[in-house]
Amino acid sequence: MAKRIAPGSHVFFSQEMAEEVQERLRLSNALQQALKNEELTLYFQPQLRVSDAQLLGVEVLLRWHPPGGSPIPPGHFIPVAEETSLICDIGDWVLQQSCRRIQQWPAGQALPGRVSVNISARHFHSPDFVARLSALLQQYPACRNRLTLEVTEGVILENLQESRTRMSQIKALGVYLSIDDFGTGYSSFAYLRELPVDELKLDRSFIQHIDTRPQDKAIIACLLELAVILKLAVVAEGVETEQQLASLSELNCLAYQGYLAARPMPEPQLMAWLAQQG
Ligand code: C2E
Ligand code: MG
Ligand code: MG
Ligand code: MG
Repeated sequence: MAKRIAPGSHVFFSQEMAEEVQERLRLSNALQQALKNEELTLYFQPQLRVSDAQLLGVEVLLRWHPPGGSPIPPGHFIPVAEETSLICDIGDWVLQQSCRRIQQWPAGQALPGRVSVNISARHFHSPDFVARLSALLQQYPACRNRLTLEVTEGVILENLQESRTRMSQIKALGVYLSIDDFGTGYSSFAYLRELPVDELKLDRSFIQHIDTRPQDKAIIACLLELAVILKLAVVAEGVETEQQLASLSELNCLAYQGYLAARPMPEPQLMAWLAQQG
């Protein structure tokens, strides 16, 4: 009897996997259409100075609103896009739209300092990434020294040698580089020495427990000291409470973003938010 169940459950498992593959394929196709049909939009989340809440920049976060459906979060569709070169098309689109926004920012409106864009590994390592970025900056010259690319440690460590070359080329274009979700990888920090990185983003998972787990606070304190030694800017991610902000201030963290200050929002709302800040 048991022998008969085992093969049966094996078949069932395979079928589940096949359905999973089907679902991802469906999502991937839908996403491809979404890109064409302008169902993707940019949201912006402010980044503020800890000491006086001055606006330092915004992070661009992608949103997908299928017509008639509920919004699909990037945590769901970005990994699917990352399985194919679709992520390069999406990434190019996000970069292009972001640069267009910077270039066309209405005169007289408070302009956020830097605009940070998330870049996936496959996109970052695509052969003509730097050439395309360079062309984009020629098309939108106002973006020089205004754009930051956020990459994760995994992106860099995939190929350290190539990453170093690429990062230097990107820096030469007047584009800044930030390490996203810093502290969550498995790597040593030694690679930071060798790379032209400008900024670290401390992952939300540390900030979340800054006031309840002394170990997490100690790790944040260490990472902040490391940043000082390496002359890197720091942004704390996912700050939700006044207490977390106070703790970051106590540790001399320079900048933060999080729901406490503002959620990611569409452009009209960002404009209203900026106007309100004065
Ligand atoms: P990320 O780059 O680490 O972005 C930060 C995420 O934390 C965002 O989630 C943001 O909405 C969320 N967040 C910000 N403040 C808080 C807070 O106080 N509390 C909580 N709970 N969350 C907060 P989101 O927008 O869902 O994006 C998730 C991830 O998807 C991003 O993580 C990034 O890895 C990826 N992503 C988003 N947009 C893009 C894009 O245009 N290109 C690529 N390649 N990846 C993107
Ligand atoms: Mg990010
Ligand atoms: Mg992050
Ligand atoms: Mg994150």
